[in-house]
Amino acid sequence: MPRMPKTFKPNVAKGRSVKRFKDPDPNFYKKAAWLKLRRVFLAHYPLCADPMGNHPDQVVEAQEVHHLKPRVERPDLALDWNNLQGLCKSCHSKETRREQLEGRT
Ligand SMILES: [Zn+2]
Repeated sequence: MPRMPKTFKPNVAKGRSVKRFKDPDPNFYKKAAWLKLRRVFLAHYPLCADPMGNHPDQVVEAQEVHHLKPRVERPDLALDWNNLQGLCKSCHSKETRREQLEGRT
């Protein structure tokens, strides 16, 4: 196995803000509709989808539900079952960071 390159850490320059979309619904994650969907989704997909192969030899419990298309970009898909993916905490934070590097969220 070739060694993975060191994780690229962007130098977020002082005074230069990363391009961000404005959150159209800051209270989204507290809303009953989301909390219910999230619970049902994790009941159906209890395992981390591991989209980046972070732990290919391990079965890890999904603890978080990720939006494949960022919610700020596609608020209409925020509650769309097909736009969700169950991830463990580690994969979710990696996935979120990758999206930030792409200037998406
Ligand atoms: Zn994972």
